[in-house]
Amino acid sequence: MTSAGHIPIHSEPEIIPRSDHPVSRANISKNALKVLYRLKESGYQGHLVGGSVRDLLLGREPKDFDVATDAHPEDVRRLFRNCRLIGRRFRLAHVMFGREIIEVATFRGRQEPGDSNGAHHVDEDGRIVRDNVYGSIEDDALRRDFTVNALYYNIDDFSIIDYAGGMRDIEAGVLRLLGDPETRYREDPVRMLRAVRFATKLGFRIEPETEQSISTLAPLLGDIPPARLFDEMLKLFMSGSALDNFEMLRHYDLFRQLFPLTDESLTHQENEFPLTLINRGMANTDERVAAGKPVTPAFLFAVFLWEPVRYRAARLESEGQTPAQALQHAGSQIIAEQAAVMATPRRFSLPMREIWMLQLRLERKGGRRSQRVLDHPRFRAAYDFLLLRGAAGEVSQELCDWWTEYQDKHPQKREQEITKTRPRKRRRRRPRRRANAGDDQV
Ligand code: ATP
Ligand code: MG
Repeated sequence: MTSAGHIPIHSEPEIIPRSDHPVSRANISKNALKVLYRLKESGYQGHLVGGSVRDLLLGREPKDFDVATDAHPEDVRRLFRNCRLIGRRFRLAHVMFGREIIEVATFRGRQEPGDSNGAHHVDEDGRIVRDNVYGSIEDDALRRDFTVNALYYNIDDFSIIDYAGGMRDIEAGVLRLLGDPETRYREDPVRMLRAVRFATKLGFRIEPETEQSISTLAPLLGDIPPARLFDEMLKLFMSGSALDNFEMLRHYDLFRQLFPLTDESLTHQENEFPLTLINRGMANTDERVAAGKPVTPAFLFAVFLWEPVRYRAARLESEGQTPAQALQHAGSQIIAEQAAVMATPRRFSLPMREIWMLQLRLERKGGRRSQRVLDHPRFRAAYDFLLLRGAAGEVSQELCDWWTEYQDKHPQKREQEITKTRPRKRRRRRPRRRANAGDDQV
């Protein structure tokens, strides 16, 4: 590759011809190619952009394929029958091919400091709250977050267009924010979480200036809507790098912004149990993801919030509540306090409570009671959770082993239970009303 040195704002891009880069159409989704070719045939620009170009350059399989174009969303809708326009803050076209969605975005205009035409709106913290002005491909490139996310694969000649020195950073394994880091973090504090997520996912190091202001600006995440934080949390902890992300988030004081109660319990801990429980929980989650097994946010939340819940429950018990009451109330309180930071849908908070409540029943063993616990739909998750507590030293290994053996001895009964209830359920339910079974499985 030619190296043209650092390219600041308003300059010619570096164009890397097809012969000088490894991105091949063979690795691009057929549907994305269809969209790109249709745009081109209709006289528009069509580029693959963002994570897909970055991942293809690194020899990784992209999660999804995003397209950037000079066609406006309404133009895109005219070109594709299977197209929906979405978004308010960012108006986008989604072109649907069965389960695959190709996101098509019109080039955005760049944000100028002191912009007074009202098209971009920045609040008192410098945060962008409205951003719907179209611009050139250069504008579009420069408003992206990291240099490695600002590369365009041009369907016209299969070259890569680089306005920001992204190719050089890909080669060096460096994650660098475009522009002045503090300004860019103020515009959108979620970029701090993205820095961590990409650094761990790609094994990149964060460039010093990009890194420098994170700890200071971390509190700005307090203004991010709880639902968006929840989405980011899922990306951080459900994509196979949960342990690395947990550690790096703590390192930059970002974890506290996501789970303040947990962070506090880790700072004030008297022993290593809580940290070990989380570390083990994250490592297990990563192993499950690597093995293609399902993971659920309910389990992750149960792990993160356990120490705050346990601590609160102990206090309530000392005030006279029974263990079950105390755990129930502590669970409700901690869930409510966490919800102020991060929105957690009920389909996750309910199973999370069940995982906690089942711990009390798992701590006792023997007799008919054990069979009932075994038959509980959340048994498997609660048992996995018990094993984590065992590994952290919070309950005895003997108790964990007892449940492991008990299950081995009783598999038949469980099978029978399941087959017994199935036909009845079928008769009662209408087939097309099937619940979303995959939602909260562990
Ligand atoms: P992933 O593999 O996680 O999908 P990605 O880079 O594709 O990584 P997306 O969240 O899908 O990440 O975003 C697509 C692209 O949009 C990014 O590569 C980046 O260019 C741009 N982008 C996304 N979020 C931001 C942001 N908060 N600020 C600036 N640019 C952003
Ligand atoms: Mg993406």
